Amino acid sequence: MVAISRRIHTTPELGFEEEHACAWLSEFLGDAGFKVRQGICDLPTAFSAQAGSGPLHVAICAEYDSLPVFGHACGHNIIAATSVGAALAAACVADDVGITVEVIGTPAEEVQNASGKVLLLERGAFSTAHLAMMAHPGPVDVIAPKIIAASMFDVRYIGKEAHASAFPELGINAADALTIAQVAIGLLRQHIRPNDRIHGIVTKGGDAPNIVPADTAARFMIRSETLEELGHLRPRVYRCFEAGAAATGAQLTIKGGDKPYAHMIHDASLASFYRQNAESLGRHFRDDHFERAAISTDMGNVSLALPAIHPMISIDSLPAVNHQPEFTAHCASEAADKALIDGAVALALTAIDAAQDGVTRERLLRRPGRVPVYSQADQNI
Ligand SMILES: [Zn+2]
Ligand SMILES: [Zn+2]
Repeated sequence: MVAISRRIHTTPELGFEEEHACAWLSEFLGDAGFKVRQGICDLPTAFSAQAGSGPLHVAICAEYDSLPVFGHACGHNIIAATSVGAALAAACVADDVGITVEVIGTPAEEVQNASGKVLLLERGAFSTAHLAMMAHPGPVDVIAPKIIAASMFDVRYIGKEAHASAFPELGINAADALTIAQVAIGLLRQHIRPNDRIHGIVTKGGDAPNIVPADTAARFMIRSETLEELGHLRPRVYRCFEAGAAATGAQLTIKGGDKPYAHMIHDASLASFYRQNAESLGRHFRDDHFERAAISTDMGNVSLALPAIHPMISIDSLPAVNHQPEFTAHCASEAADKALIDGAVALALTAIDAAQDGVTRERLLRRPGRVPVYSQADQNI
């Protein structure tokens, strides 16, 4: 497992390009006796690896994509190894406790729109699973991290080139359009909800300072507490981009954002099993350590379809946090190796607990593929 983690760490691959990681994980699980299918649901870097034949179908999600430039700055190498380890352990007792164990290799978590789990869900990869789980590395252990809805989209303005000094009155400035949009977004921030987020980058700002920029582009993300609230925020942000077009005369197009990430519903009993199991391995949860922290993942979409958990597991990286180059270094450390073994054991024990706790087992078996509805009290794990 440690070797797999380190190998993926040194060979970072972007979303939907994870050919090596997908092949290594499939081969490893195949050698361990799992029935492996690569390229499921028309996604070449997705896979399924199955063992056991019990009625309770446990899906363990493996992520393995990296970030651009900074490699595995989100530790998906650790997720991949953790999930493989959890599946190996659970498979040893699968028939004794009446479970089928499946690792679902879910590519491209970092792409933030139409990602691996979103497409796999749409195409039926989770249709027979009764529960889904994974553990994600972070700076501290958190049982049910705040996971909010998110949407990523691309913005483009087309204006008109002109000599910036000799004939500026003939130009239509597409960079000004982006500036106006960003000023409008900055002002909008006073009037959004506490869990709303708007952030982005300019991906093309112009070609030369003496040419009026006529083709500019940006990539932005919006986030909200729930998918419904995201639906309220979206038109307000889009209007800021329209303001840039209206003020300059540049033409605006917005692409993407059509398959957003959902907020997450953490399954209360699965989370409490995981917590007990992780604590028995000596882990300490620091659930309130980051007051404002809110992340987004396509595991949220999975959690709306079937009971799921997504705890954060500490790799002892502070002050480094996810998406920093310093975190990349921590994802191949002794603490990272310990985390992936603890995570694997805790997830495997959680699957066994779910299978052996009568009430939980019955509930999971009764409600395959349905949206779970839990009270607020259930969410206070
Ligand atoms: Zn990430
Ligand atoms: Zn991540």
